[in-house]
Amino acid sequence: MSINTVFNKTYRCAVCSKPLTDPVSIARGIGPECLLNEENKWKAKWTHIQPDFFCPADFQFRTWEGVVCVLDTQDAKSVTNHIHAVLALIEHDMDIKLSERRIIYRDGAGVWDEVQTCKTDDGRTQFKAFRSLGGIRDMEQAIKIILNEAPTAID
Ligand SMILES: [Zn+2]
Repeated sequence: MSINTVFNKTYRCAVCSKPLTDPVSIARGIGPECLLNEENKWKAKWTHIQPDFFCPADFQFRTWEGVVCVLDTQDAKSVTNHIHAVLALIEHDMDIKLSERRIIYRDGAGVWDEVQTCKTDDGRTQFKAFRSLGGIRDMEQAIKIILNEAPTAID
């Protein structure tokens, strides 16, 4: 039995929909080729998203190791308060299917949490919950925790 059917489910790349076979790709939700494309596109680059009427939160965004990282640029916890708008904006403007990706978010206090989402019946991404990663302040450490987890966290 291959790893991608262990939980009676075939895990697929969020970008190209090919089946994922190794545990780290499954944890990321994205395959190695698409990951490379994405890393090249976002290499060392935070994209600053300006607040607007629909998304009043001021934040920066990038992907890192396949994990979607959101950085609050204000002292106020504006992303926390407007997480629905933030997710919708990233999904539409950056063309990333978030319900199939792992997402972390650094709040105004400098702590990284996971942003959990789910997919609605009509295919939209819906915010589910913030999940503590134990008060981690280092982004790469937060990503390491996420990628070492079993893929059952995504359903
Ligand atoms: Zn792919």
